[in-house]
Amino acid sequence: MRNWKPEDIFTVACPHCRAEIEFWKDEPVRLCSACRKEVRNPKVDQGCAEWCKHGPECLEPIAPPPPAKLEP
Ligand SMILES: [Zn+2]
Repeated sequence: MRNWKPEDIFTVACPHCRAEIEFWKDEPVRLCSACRKEVRNPKVDQGCAEWCKHGPECLEPIAPPPPAKLEP
């Protein structure tokens, strides 16, 4: 019962060997089919706090989370 569209899949060039890797939009990491190394999904990477249980502590050293509350 998967409800996905073709645009939910995109390709990324492997940073290790430049092979094309198909990423599912929500997939954080894939193994490159050519060199078998882990390749991180650049689209998921920045929003990793949304899926990764270490998200908040993981993001903190890099950049503070954007202000989510606009109400005083
Ligand atoms: Zn590769």
